[in-house]
Amino acid sequence: MSDDVVHVVVLPSAGMGHLTPFLRLSALLLHQHCKVTLIIPQPTVTLSESQLLSRFHSTFPQVNQLHFQLPPPTSNEGDPLFQRVEAIRASGPILSTLLSSISSPPLSVVVSDIFMISTLVPITHTLSLPNYVLFTSSATMFAFFSHCSTLSASSDAVEIPGISPIPRSSIPPVFLVPDSKSVLRNIFMEDSPKVTKLHGFLINTFEALEQQALEALNAGKVVSEMPPVFSVGPFAPCEFEKEGQWGNGKPLRWLDDQDSGSVVYVSFGSRTALGRDQIREIGEGLMRSGCRFLWVVKDKIVDREEEEGKLEDVLGVELVERMREKGMVMKEWVYQSGILGHRAVGGFVSHCGWNSVMEAAWNGVPILGWPQHGDQKLNAEVVERSGWGIWNKNWGWIGERIVKAEEIGKAINAMMNNESLKVKAAQVKEVGRKATSVDGDCEVTLHKIIEEWKNVE
Ligand code: UDP
Ligand code: UDP
Ligand code: UDP
Repeated sequence: MSDDVVHVVVLPSAGMGHLTPFLRLSALLLHQHCKVTLIIPQPTVTLSESQLLSRFHSTFPQVNQLHFQLPPPTSNEGDPLFQRVEAIRASGPILSTLLSSISSPPLSVVVSDIFMISTLVPITHTLSLPNYVLFTSSATMFAFFSHCSTLSASSDAVEIPGISPIPRSSIPPVFLVPDSKSVLRNIFMEDSPKVTKLHGFLINTFEALEQQALEALNAGKVVSEMPPVFSVGPFAPCEFEKEGQWGNGKPLRWLDDQDSGSVVYVSFGSRTALGRDQIREIGEGLMRSGCRFLWVVKDKIVDREEEEGKLEDVLGVELVERMREKGMVMKEWVYQSGILGHRAVGGFVSHCGWNSVMEAAWNGVPILGWPQHGDQKLNAEVVERSGWGIWNKNWGWIGERIVKAEEIGKAINAMMNNESLKVKAAQVKEVGRKATSVDGDCEVTLHKIIEEWKNVE
């Protein structure tokens, strides 16, 4: 191995929404001849994470893997993802030992998750290592993150310089509750003023989609000393993610028998469990929409718990029977990138988790956004502004109200029959693919970043 090899430590936090983009970035770095060492907090929250990791390692056996064992959680209360994030944040000494142990070839840089800033910055500083963050949501959400420590609970709308105002109803709810005990809020408040201590930020987005936010961030309008923010997306789904162990290929085979563009795909990501009343309204709504559908039902946040329940327990036998005529309903992990890339899929009802949004962009699929938590309304707004999706602002956050079947059916039908969305989605796909082609923006940017890493003393 030559002396100027760039050796990158890749350090995600917890959950598929974080792991997937970190592994896709790792694949891009390997393609650019970097040496990659992966540090994964263990145990993973979900089964899907451990399955994805084992596929990644069998595809890329050259990737170093360091064992990062988390201490058992101090409490079992609250969101399992954030319990894990808290354990990671309390593991500074372990991380310091792990990073100090890497010597051959010498480390060039650490690319870590947004949730680790307070823990990691002092360590990388002591070790004189540049520390970049791969932010796993939109550039718009990153602008919000960078700005949020200045928010007050009474804010009516958030005015971030250079960014369109964010109405109160779209602000992630934990920021509107005074003295919130929310783990997420506390992390954001503690870490957001420290963005200037990082060396740079990488975001899975592209200019055409989030020009305004990227410009505002890089012009220092959001935070005056902001380090460079690079758009390196859209990340292409990778070979190692492909079906095999997921859902034994059933959804894709079913899609093969459907007409082009006729199917609406419905999923709320890897960790959003809706209430049963709402789930049943979605089922009835799909029946009313008149469309064929592929629907992934989730009623547990963590997939390890999901295996117990049957579809009939959630939907009732009668609805399950009726739905069989018109679509396919799954209650297990599906290979979403494959589904969105199938010619039969003509629309996506999505919670607008950022990975889902970017996968829809990659495949040119129009979105009916139904944001549920956190950053998702900001992401839905990004989609709507660029014209390839719509969302109903009066559907509220998760649990605020039950959205009725009739509204759902109408909205799905409107999205599936909207020609302008299709045209725009095709354009977004084209621009996104161009960015990732040889000599496209994404590749050029990544190359530039790697050159910078080579020159760090
Ligand atoms: N939640 C979820 N998916 C997400 C984000 C949050 O299911 O992507 C759930 C989470 O489990 C929690 C609730 O929504 O029960 C509120 O989460 P949030 O992060 O907004 O606040 P916190 O849990 O930190 O108070
Ligand atoms: N995903 C999948 N199959 C599923 C559920 C989710 O492949 O059954 C993937 C999806 O393609 C995306 C990720 O899990 O890459 C979810 O990330 P996102 O940011 O969309 O939402 P989150 O799950 O973090 O809320
Ligand atoms: N979040 C964020 N940046 C990230 C990842 C997550 O700001 O890079 C916030 C966001 O508000 C989100 C919450 O953390 O709602 C939970 O994260 P998760 O990845 O579970 O959900 P998602 O980002 O897909 O909504």
